[in-house]
Amino acid sequence: MKRAIVVPDEVRESFTGELIDPADPAYEQARRVHNGLVDKRPALIARCRTVPDVVDALTVGREQAAEISVRGGGHNVAGKAVTEGGLMIDLSLMRGIRVDPRHQTVWAQGGSTWKEFNRAAACHGLATTGLSIMPYLGAVTRVDPTATAFPHRSPGYSLLIVSQWQDPAETEANIGWAAETFEALRPYMSGRRYVNNLSADDGRMVRDIWGINYERLVRIKRRYDPDNVFRLNHNINPAG
Ligand SMILES: Cc1cc2nc3c(=O)[nH]c(=O)nc-3n(C[C@H](O)[C@H](O)[C@H](O)COP(=O)(O)OP(=O)(O)OC[C@H]3O[C@@H](n4cnc5c(N)ncnc54)[C@H](O)[C@@H]3O)c2cc1C
Repeated sequence: MKRAIVVPDEVRESFTGELIDPADPAYEQARRVHNGLVDKRPALIARCRTVPDVVDALTVGREQAAEISVRGGGHNVAGKAVTEGGLMIDLSLMRGIRVDPRHQTVWAQGGSTWKEFNRAAACHGLATTGLSIMPYLGAVTRVDPTATAFPHRSPGYSLLIVSQWQDPAETEANIGWAAETFEALRPYMSGRRYVNNLSADDGRMVRDIWGINYERLVRIKRRYDPDNVFRLNHNINPAG
């Protein structure tokens, strides 16, 4: 039997967001993410409104939950934003965005989506990325591969095969054509992968994804999350 997460009274009283358990009418909607094939049931969803809410949720999760997931926009194709039986920290109410046009810097809270982000940046005359990066040319290829975590800086093409459908009866056929197309194109590919496009079982490729930056990211992970509390993702293990 799955273990319930018991939120202490003092946390419940000061929590400004919503604490949603399986008996709550909001639960079914709250556990859903963009990928309709993801059908996981968290023991508790802590929909946070403020940073102290996040801190409290994390404390309760570390004490009681076998697993903690973080939901930002819920668009990760692998469905890593949801946990089966653990605590889901839901940031969808936290969409604050602050723009510093002088230093050309934007801070965005974890629930923000590109629509709001681009709008806020555009108000201050800052251009941001769009969703399409194909072909893969221009300024993005002129950045040093070690300047950011993202190492892929050679010019070329980025391929994303998007297979989307509404009717569950069409699942097999749609996964099938996407996989076949991928296999047909594989001989012409470089073998590099982009983390945002990975499916749930692609975790073993993490070292290849980050390439030259992998060891540095392991050191950062060791420093900020040595216990690997945040592991429901394409995980960089602090053990290396
Ligand atoms: C139709 C479609 C098209 C897409 N097109 C593109 C594209 O063109 N380019 C592109 O780059 N990507 C694309 N993506 C992929 C998507 O942008 C990425 O998967 C992105 O990471 C989703 O962000 P999210 O906030 O919705 O993530 P979520 O699904 O909410 O979470 C993703 C992962 O990040 C973790 N996480 C989220 N927030 C935090 C946080 N604050 N702290 C710690 N961990 C956190 C979660 O635990 C989870 O592991 C597309 C996805 C879809 C469904």
